[in-house]
Amino acid sequence: MSHDDPRRAIARTDVLLATPALAAAAERLGRSTVRAAVTAAQDRARCGEIDPDQVGPAALAALPSRASSLTPVLNATGVVVHTNIGRAPLSAAAVEAVVDAAGYVDVELDLRTGARGRRGAAALEALRQAVPGAGDALVVNNGAAALVLATTALAAGREVVVSRGEMVEIGDGFRLPDLIASTGARLREVGTTNRTHLRDYADAVGDATGCVLKVHPGNFRVEGFVSAVGLDALHDLRRPDGSRVPLVADIGSGLLTHDPALPGEPDAATALREGATLVTASGDKLLGGPQAGLVLGERETVERLRRHPLARALRVDKLTLAALEATLRGASTPVRDALHLTAEDLRPRVEELARAVRRSVVAVEGRVGGGGAPGVPLPGLAVEVPVEVVERLRTPRGEAPVVLARVEDGRGLVDLRCIPADRDADVLHALRVALAGSDPAPDGDDGTGPAAGPAA
Ligand SMILES: *Cc1c(COP(=O)(O)O)cnc(C)c1O
Repeated sequence: MSHDDPRRAIARTDVLLATPALAAAAERLGRSTVRAAVTAAQDRARCGEIDPDQVGPAALAALPSRASSLTPVLNATGVVVHTNIGRAPLSAAAVEAVVDAAGYVDVELDLRTGARGRRGAAALEALRQAVPGAGDALVVNNGAAALVLATTALAAGREVVVSRGEMVEIGDGFRLPDLIASTGARLREVGTTNRTHLRDYADAVGDATGCVLKVHPGNFRVEGFVSAVGLDALHDLRRPDGSRVPLVADIGSGLLTHDPALPGEPDAATALREGATLVTASGDKLLGGPQAGLVLGERETVERLRRHPLARALRVDKLTLAALEATLRGASTPVRDALHLTAEDLRPRVEELARAVRRSVVAVEGRVGGGGAPGVPLPGLAVEVPVEVVERLRTPRGEAPVVLARVEDGRGLVDLRCIPADRDADVLHALRVALAGSDPAPDGDDGTGPAAGPAA
C-alpha cells in the first residue's frame, strides 16, 4: 500500500466502535452485530465503493432497527388467524402482561407465604372459570403438544381409536397419524373416509384400547354422503372388563364457548357437556391468545397428564402463562373483534382510505383462516389497488410500515378487517408510498366519482 493510498484513511474497527452512535447501537443490538456492519462498511471503502469517511455512517445505515429481525406486519389480508404472520395478535391486556412478566415474576412463588407456589395457577384458574364444566385444566406449548401428551399418557403401548374421516393433515406437516405414532400408541382406524358409525367404534374397542380420539378437521369440509359419530354417542364406550374408554376431543380452534358467528365450529364447553373426557385445543387460534395447547376436562384424567414425565418437557414459559391469563380475563381479543366486524362496521374506514388514495371500494369476503371454520365467509369491504402494489406494500422500505394485502381475481385488495382502527393512518401512509411508485390512478378517477363510493 503506497503512502497516498486512500485506503489508509479508513478508520480502524475499534476506533469506529468507540464513536458515540455506534457504541450506542452496540448497547441495543449487541457488539457482534455492529462489528459485522463496520467490517462490511470498511470492505466497501477498500474496494472504492464508498469514501473512507463514509464508513461510520454506512455501518450505521446498514444496522437493523431492532435486535430481533421479526418485522411487525399490518394484516390487510382479511384472513383473521393467519399462520404465516403468527396467527393470533395479542390483546392489549396480554401485551401488557407479557411485558410485566418479562423480568423476575412470581410465576412459582406465593408472595404472602414466601413458599413455592403452583406454577401458572392463576392462568389455570382463569381457564377453569371460562369453562366451568371442566374439572381441571393444563397448559402446554401448543395444540399438537396437548394431543401428544394426552395420547401418550392414555394410550402409549396401547391403541388410539380414530375415524378414517379424521386422519387429517392440519398444515405445515402436522399429520395426525404420524403424531400419534410418535407417542408409541398404535392407531386403530375405523370407518371410511366419508362415513363412520357407532358400531365401527364399538367393534374396535377392546382390552388394548387406550382412548378414543375425535379430531375436528378444521381446514376442510367433506360434503355429500357423509356421516360421523358425535361425542354424545361415544362417551360411554366400554372395554370388555367394563371400564370406560377415555374420549379425547381435539377441537383445534380453541373456542371455549359457542360463538353463533361460527355455527359449525366446536367449542370446549359443548364438547365436555357432550361427554368428552378431555378437550385439547390451541391457544392462538380462535381463542386469540398466545401459542399454547389447552387441555380441559375430567380432574383425574388431567392430573394423569400433569404427572406424566412428558408434561415437564412440554411446559409453557412465564410469558405464555401471563398472556393467556390476560387474554382470558381481559376485554375482547383482536381475533374476536375482527371476526365479528360486518361490512357496515368497516364501511366508514374503508371509504375514507379509498378516498384518500383515490381508489375504489369493493365488496370482499374475509376468512377465519388458521385451520378454523373453513366454510364461513366474512363479508367485508376492501380498497382495490393494482396487483403490483401488493408486493410494494409487503417490501420493507424506510419508515413505512409493512402491509400485507392480498391478490384475488387479478386485483390487489387492502382489507381493513384485521387492522386495528388506530392504525388506519399507518396503512394510508404505506399505501401512499407504495402507490407513488405505481401507475397513476385510472383516468377520470379524481376521488369524487364512483371510485370512492360504496361497493356495488
Ligand atoms: C391447529 C390444530 C392442531 C395443532 O395445534 P397447534 O397449536 O398448531 O400445535 C391440532 N388439531 C387440530 C384439530 C387443529 O386444528
